[in-house]
Amino acid sequence: MINVTKPSMPTYEEYCKEIKVLWENQWLTNSGIKHQEFQNALEEYLNIKHITLYTNGHLALENAIAAMDLPKEGEVITTPFTFISTTHAIVRNGLKPVFCDINEDFYTINTSKIEQLITDKTCAIVPVHVYGNVCDVEAIESIANNYNLRVIYDAAHAFGVKYKNRSIAKYGDATMFSFHATKVFNTIEGGAVCHDNSDLELKLERLKNFGATYDDVLHIGSNAKMSEFQAAMGICNLRHFDNEMKKRELCVKEYRKFLRDEKGIKICFPQDNVTPNYAYFPIVVDGSKYKRNEIIERLKNNGIYARKYFYPLTNDVSCYKDKGAFNSKETPVAKSIAERVIALPLYADLDVEHIMRICEVIIG
Ligand SMILES: *Cc1c(COP(=O)(O)O)cnc(C)c1O
Repeated sequence: MINVTKPSMPTYEEYCKEIKVLWENQWLTNSGIKHQEFQNALEEYLNIKHITLYTNGHLALENAIAAMDLPKEGEVITTPFTFISTTHAIVRNGLKPVFCDINEDFYTINTSKIEQLITDKTCAIVPVHVYGNVCDVEAIESIANNYNLRVIYDAAHAFGVKYKNRSIAKYGDATMFSFHATKVFNTIEGGAVCHDNSDLELKLERLKNFGATYDDVLHIGSNAKMSEFQAAMGICNLRHFDNEMKKRELCVKEYRKFLRDEKGIKICFPQDNVTPNYAYFPIVVDGSKYKRNEIIERLKNNGIYARKYFYPLTNDVSCYKDKGAFNSKETPVAKSIAERVIALPLYADLDVEHIMRICEVIIG
């Protein structure tokens, strides 16, 4: 059986060695020694001034948006071609998502369509580096400057990605990474907010711990702290991350070799100026020669589990239906891609020989 993904893990021995000290000092969460070590290691690896660690990516994003002090019922421009977390994080902050369409090549926000969505209520943009593909960060920065908007990136898929040789986390007012087990880099569950602003750091630290200070409570915060066991997993996985990316790169090159000239199947090509992390390998089928659901069935019959990632669009799901405000017809490119996309299996230990087999089953 080949699943769509498989988490990267250190050896059992390496992890046990890392957590041994926790039995000595009996400090399990609330910024313990592993948390501090992991935070330092990440700041160095990503070359970022401030990283706040979280128990998961979703709460990291929710807190990053909360920390911006946006006006109640403000409008936030985002895309529906993402995991539901992105939209929930906006709505759960009492803000209104306004959906912008995506571009055809990399499925990120179509920056030429942002300005027409801006109203006097618009306060922020939440773009998504979907599949690890980098948004047009320069266009977004210039729009945000012109209209005085905050930018919070959902970079759940983009850990380790660089643009013009700088960490992707250096763009926008804040960037969220997810360290969920299914992502390229994991801490079992986990996440982080990166930014270069020391005021934000204090606020994020408080928000993830009930909004509390030593003897007062300043914000209506939640509990979103990363534990010592998660941080220890992060320390181990970070040691092997570059190597894991190299293994993924071989897989992606193999997929590209088999599928690049196949009529009716579109793949993502490398982006200019981007150092990728090989997080996902999505294909988009034409719908006539190749039908998405048939391919997924055929793969399943061969013990290969691919996913309709991302389908449905977040402006098409039931929990937002009766809100009436969302309409996926307004994002036709996203709608068309969501109906034809398949995320193929990809993980560091995927056998290169299996990729040929997967491609044979797809082509049929
Ligand atoms: C995984 C994911 C999240 C949420 O991260 P968790 O760590 O699972 O909470 C948010 N946005 C996107 C695009 C994701 O894929």
